[in-house]
This record gives sequence, C-alpha cells and structure tokens, in this order.
Amino acid sequence: MGNFKVEENFDISLRPKCIDDYIGQDEIKKQIKIFIDAAKKKGKPLDHILIGGPPGLGKTSLAQVIAKEMNKNIIFTSGPVLEKKGDIAGILSSLEEGDILFIDEIHRLNPAVEEALYPAMEDFCIDIILGKGNSSRSVRIDVVPFTLIGATTRTGMLTSPLLSRFGIILNVEFYDLRSLTKIVLRSARILNIKITHDGAEEIARRSRGTPRIANRFLKRVHDFALVKKNGVIDRETAEEALDFFGIDEYGLDSKDRKYLEILIEKFNGKPVGLNTLASALSEDRYTIEEIIEPYLLRSGFLERTPKGRRPTKKALEMLKKI
Ligand code: ADP
Repeated sequence: MGNFKVEENFDISLRPKCIDDYIGQDEIKKQIKIFIDAAKKKGKPLDHILIGGPPGLGKTSLAQVIAKEMNKNIIFTSGPVLEKKGDIAGILSSLEEGDILFIDEIHRLNPAVEEALYPAMEDFCIDIILGKGNSSRSVRIDVVPFTLIGATTRTGMLTSPLLSRFGIILNVEFYDLRSLTKIVLRSARILNIKITHDGAEEIARRSRGTPRIANRFLKRVHDFALVKKNGVIDRETAEEALDFFGIDEYGLDSKDRKYLEILIEKFNGKPVGLNTLASALSEDRYTIEEIIEPYLLRSGFLERTPKGRRPTKKALEMLKKI
C-alpha cells in the first residue's frame, strides 16, 4: 500500500462510525442492512463477507461499520501478516462469539493459513498439530461462531475453495461526484476546516472517485489555503492548490500522465504488456495494476486488450491539449 499508510492515523478520525456515516455505496448499504437485521433475528453471526474493490474505496470502513451495527468486536489482520497456521489458530481461538475477523488483502494468504481457514469458516473448528515428529497428531478444536470479512483488491486472485466459502460477496465502486463531495464536507467538519460546497466539489472532482484520496487532498488544499489564502477553501482556492500540487482537472497526477505519455510516445499507442510497461515506468506491477490503472480504465483513458494496454482516443486528445 506504500504511501497510503502514512495517512492512516489521520484516517482513523475520519472513518465512518455507523452505517449512516458511510456515504454512498447505496446498493451495498441496502443489502447489508437486510443481512444484519436477518442475522439479528436469527440470533446468529453474519455469514462470511468478501468485499472487493480498488484501494481507498472504503472496504475497511465498511467492515468496521458492520461490526458496529452488529455490536460486535472487530479484529484486524491482513493476508501477508499471517505467516503460519499457528498465527491464524491463535487469533481464531481468542475470538468471542459473533466477533468479526477482518482480513485485508485476503488474496495474499499463505496456502497453509488459507487451508486452516476452510474448516474454521465452514464448521467453526481448526485442526492443530500437537507434538513433534513421529509422536505428533492432529486434533480438531472448536472455535466460536464468528464472521470473517475478507477484503481484496483482486477478487480474481482468490482460490475457488476460499471464494466459495463466502456467503456474501460485495464490490465497492468508485464514488460519484455527489457522494464524494459529501465525504469531503464531512471530513472538513470533523477536521474543523472551513470549506464551501463548491470548494468541496472541486476537491471531489479531482479525487479519482476515491475517498482516501479526497481526504488527503482536503488536507493538502487546507495547508495551501492557510499559507497562501485566508484559510477558507472555495472553488478557486481548491483549483489553484490542486494545480499547484500537480493534480489536473481530470484528477490525474504526474504518475498517471507519465503512464499515458509512455504509452503514446514511446509505444506509439500500440498495445503494451504489463512487464514492459513496468520497466519503462520504473514502477512495480502492484502500483501499476492496483493504483494507476483502475482509475485510468474507469475514466476512459485506457483500455485493456488481449495484446496489452492501449491508450484511448480520449487520452490522445487530453495529452494533446496539455
Ligand atoms: P480500503 O479499505 O478500501 O482501502 P478505507 O476503508 O481504509 O478503504 O477508506 C479510506 C478512508 O476513506 C477512510 O478512512 C475514510 O475516512 C474514508 N472513507 C471511505 N469510504 C467512506 C465512505 N463511504 N464514507 C465516508 N468516508 C469514507
């Protein structure tokens, strides 16, 4: 996640506390409300939930909101952190009934840990090995009924045995301008930042449909407004500040523009494979696939063909304009 983590502390205060604080994603919220009510009526934990979608769109926040609405604890961990079977066994055996176990980047689980999860998800039990060498034996121990919420930026990378054990699969979408504007206004209120509706809208417009980016821009624009202006963020200030920070009117930053420029200038707009692009850009594949490309694809600057990535007419026109 690289530089996203830097903002984590400041994100905590901005995280939605309950489902009504969670802005947008209306379809998901409607469904969640039903699942929560049903689980409460049945007196059972929620079914396991998989939340897919690009970084910063509110997967962790959604899990937290679900835990809050269920009135249960939530325990956070992530795929790469769980190195061995004992790690997951330890967490599972410490859960209280109905607790929510959140595993971020669940597509990056080590296979041994993943296998230990299967019986835990299905039958609420785990197999542990007692003893060593010839005298070792496997014993099955019960864990309390719990809900696993897995988050992933790559649903397609989940193995089918894991995928099939989730009863509920949700996909968070990029936010529309209206919802993102609301998020900026809410964050400004929490952080005591003076902002006009138009100022919030301008920040939202350039935030790639992503709340985490919108919150980061809000903070940076506020810095700019404090130093260069009267501290209030109106549209003009937001425009000036974001231009100053290299974020254009489409929300593209220098990395995105470099990506498109390379496709157009170096490869003449012909399809290019991921590895070739990664070395031409000196970026790792993760940054390209998870951070740069989803928004370029979604906003129509890029298309993926069987032969590789290709800039669209819109990208050619946009870069000509600059
Ligand atoms: P993800 O887990 O998908 O990477 P997060 O849940 O960490 O994303 O969201 C990043 C930040 O964006 C949160 O701290 C929160 O401040 C904000 N955020 C995300 N989704 C929403 C939302 N629906 N409403 C309000 N704020 C949101």
